[in-house]
Formats: sequence, C-alpha cells, structure tokens
Amino acid sequence: MRDRESANRKARDLLRMAVAKARLLGPVAPLTFEPKRSCLIVGGGVAGMVSALSVAEMGFEVNLVEKAGELGGTARRILNTLNGQDVQAYLDALTGTVREHPLIRVHLDAEVIESRGYVGDFTSKIAVRGDGKITEVGHGATIIATGAVEAKPQEYLYGQDSRVLTLLELERDVAAGNTRVCGVQTAVMIQCVGSRDDERRLCSRVCCSQSLRSALKLRELNPQMDIYVLYRDMMSYGLMEDRYREAAEKGVKFIRYELADKPRVTAVEEEGRSVLRVMVRESALDRLHMIDADVVALAVGVVAGQDNREVSRLFKVPLDEDGFFLEAHMKLRPVDFATDGIFLCGTAHYPKHLSDTIAQAQAAAGKAAAILCKKKIETGVEVAFVNAEECIGCGICELLCPFKAIEVVSIDQGDRAHVISASCKGCGVCSSHCPRRAIGMHSFGDDQILTQITAMATGKVEQYA
Ligand SMILES: Cc1cc2nc3c(=O)[nH]c(=O)nc-3n(C[C@H](O)[C@H](O)[C@H](O)COP(=O)(O)OP(=O)(O)OC[C@H]3O[C@@H](n4cnc5c(N)ncnc54)[C@H](O)[C@@H]3O)c2cc1C
Repeated sequence: MRDRESANRKARDLLRMAVAKARLLGPVAPLTFEPKRSCLIVGGGVAGMVSALSVAEMGFEVNLVEKAGELGGTARRILNTLNGQDVQAYLDALTGTVREHPLIRVHLDAEVIESRGYVGDFTSKIAVRGDGKITEVGHGATIIATGAVEAKPQEYLYGQDSRVLTLLELERDVAAGNTRVCGVQTAVMIQCVGSRDDERRLCSRVCCSQSLRSALKLRELNPQMDIYVLYRDMMSYGLMEDRYREAAEKGVKFIRYELADKPRVTAVEEEGRSVLRVMVRESALDRLHMIDADVVALAVGVVAGQDNREVSRLFKVPLDEDGFFLEAHMKLRPVDFATDGIFLCGTAHYPKHLSDTIAQAQAAAGKAAAILCKKKIETGVEVAFVNAEECIGCGICELLCPFKAIEVVSIDQGDRAHVISASCKGCGVCSSHCPRRAIGMHSFGDDQILTQITAMATGKVEQYA
C-alpha cells in the first residue's frame, strides 16, 4: 500500500492487460425478455400463505401448492405464542384471506412433479393426488416454503409408554383439557431431546419457549401441579426471557443437567401407584434428584422434512448438512438461492419462531415481486457458450455448474450441452473442465486471457495477438 513504485508498476500492468484484452473483444448481445408475471409457491404453511398473500397484494398471480389436504402446516398444532397471541385465530383469518384472494390459486393435495426454466421464465407441472390431474403453470419466480417437522424421539420410553409425549402432543392434550395431562400431580419436561449432541448439533430455537408456554399454561390450569423443566441451557430469545422469570416465580422448577449425564426415565409401580421415575443429576450442585412423574413431555426439536431432498432435486437448489435448504449468503442474500428467481422462507430454511417465519416470508415475497414487476429481464453477457460440433454430451459441465445453468439436451446429432444464459454467472467452471474444450466464455476466451498474461509478462501489448 505504501510502496508507490510497485503500486505504479502494478497499475501499468493492469492497464496494459486491459488494453490487450480490449483489442480482441467482440460484440455480445444480452438476451432480454418479459418475465412471466406469476409466482409459484411450494408449501402452504404460514410461510407459504404469508408470501402468497404479499405477492398477490402487489398485483401478481400466485399458484400455491400444498401437499396436505388443508393449509396451515405445523402452526395448526400450536395454540398460542409465548406472548399469548392466539395462533389458531390468526391462522383461520390468514387461510380465509388466502383462499378468497382472486389472484391466488390454491392447489391442495398437490405436489410439483416437474420444473424447468430460469429467472423470469419457469414452467412447472403440478399433480393433484387422487384424480391424477396435472396442471402446467408458467411463473417468473418461485418460493420454496416446505417447512419442517417435529422430530420423532428415540429415547425416554417414547412410543413405549403413553404418558411420555412430545411437547406438541402435550399442547394438544392441554387444549383438549385432557385430564391425563391437566389433572395430574407431577409433570416433567426434558429439553434438548435428540438435539445439540454429536448426532444432531442443531438447536431448534423454538423448544425452550414451547416448554415455558406449556409450563405456564399447566400452572394456570392446575396451580397444585409440580412442574419440572430439565434443561441444558434455557434459551428463550429476546423479551421471552421475561416468561422464564415468570415461570420460575410461579414455582416451575428448573433443573440443569449435562449432556454426558442425561436424565433417565423408567416406569415404576409403587404403593399401588404407577409413575414415570425420572432420575436427574443437577449439574451445578452435583445433586441427584428423583422425581415421580405422571407425565413426561419431550422437547424433541425440529428436523428437515423428508420431501426436501426431492424438492431440492426438482428445483436444483442445495440443502445443508441437516437437510434444510441453504441460502445463497447468510448475511447478504438470506432469502435467495444461488439460482436466480428462486427464494426460500420459513422452517424449510432452519427452525424459527412464527414471528421470524412471517418476516422472512414477506422478505421472500418482496424479492420475488422485484423480478415480477420488471418490464424486461436482461441476462448477463459474460456467459458460457457451447461449440455443438465439439461437444460430446458427456455431462461433466452439467454436473459441475454451481448455478445449474447447463443441461444436456438431446438434439438431432445426439446429446449436447446447452447453456441457460439467464442462469449463467460466467464463473467458467464448465469451460475449464470440458475435456473437449467445447465450452467457451464470452469476453473470457482463451486468446483474451492469454494476451493479458503475455502483456503482463512481457510488458508488451502486441505480443500475443
Ligand atoms: C415441533 C415444532 C414446534 C414449534 N413450536 C413453536 C412455538 O412454540 N412457537 C413458535 O412461534 N413457533 C413454533 N414452531 C415454529 C413454527 O411452527 C414455524 O415457524 C411455522 O409454522 C413455520 O411455517 P412454515 O410454513 O415455514 O412451515 P410448515 O408449517 O412446516 O408448513 C410447510 C407446509 O409445506 C407443506 N409441504 C411440505 N413439502 C411439500 C411439498 N413437497 N409440496 C407441497 N407442500 C409441501 C407441508 O405439508 C406444510 O403444510 C414450532 C415448529 C415445530 C416443528
């Protein structure tokens, strides 16, 4: 930085290289086209519905595809948020507005079975289960909102003893006023079940607030009940911390355990009473507690949906190591995929609270609408092109392209690579790996690159041309 002589030499090199390359540049025309003014949204949970409504409110058509027979997703199983908002009332209002919106077409019991195209010009096929009807839709943007599911626990007698429930199952029983939950003497909740360990390192974010909510509700319904929360770290985000204090003040007992010394649950018959005996070592005091519980609820966390792999294949978008969809950039492009025109939101991305899901769905809708409202979409010019006479259709380029901008297509002479210019970012991976040197890059041809190297190495512009 302070070496003026070297900096000056470098500037002269760069200038000479640019001039050398400019001498060999040829005209390249961008491809321009009008985007299809419609959005495809996959998944009809809160994320899918909020984004559908936001896009439609901006005046664009939406096809909302939901594989289940009703809209709502996981939120159908959540009664209230920790702040006391009525989730079911919100959901009913949202579902009603979505169903009645003239620009939103809802496809229930349906799945996308094929999708092709590029930003501004996608075509997808939607198949309805049962009647086998297939609808083809054109869309300029796509939003993936396929959500996530509650993990199935493998421990603490779950599935063997009906008194061991997941938190969502506990919530269902509390809502129904079921006495096997609301009328009992002792309830225990165990946090981080099957989470934050070597097998699944993920924290699901929602479980701590879920337990606090259930504990406060049980306390309200049955003030005599002994309620224990066995935790490793209570992480009630932001202002939800207040509810943690409230629960503690109202007598909910919090006991911290270590991952290496997890609680043990056994079914025991004693003095004519059948209980679930929970043994837990309180790590701070190194004290072993024995709690005879009537019901044990497991905070099992959130895992990626089984469908994600298939959706990832269909839309050519990546998954992370936990099976959730992977955004293009955590900070700079948090609702985008690397492939232009495809966005993500909700728990399909990673576990998050309803409020975060709603905010992200609105962000995804905004990004989609920014494409749909364009008069013309112009593709970049520094993109790859295929010399069809040299190409043997081996597919290496298709396999390696990080933007899924190359596909091998069958034409008269056999299989050949085809560049989707609208998706190509001109990274050159295809060109540098092609065994037949059949792929070139506009504005980055071999001659253009070599002349720059020559200009730098020899100090002369004319050398290579
Ligand atoms: C166990 C659990 C507990 C939670 N507890 C709380 C809580 O206490 N408080 C809170 O604020 N939040 C909680 N959440 C988070 C909250 O549920 C989510 O933020 C929100 O519901 C996510 O909405 P979504 O639309 O992204 O996903 P989902 O609700 O999962 O909806 C996704 C929808 O996509 C559909 N779908 C999936 N694959 C396809 C496909 N291939 N084609 C078409 N449709 C498809 C599904 O059928 C589903 O209807 C919890 C989540 C879970 C899993």
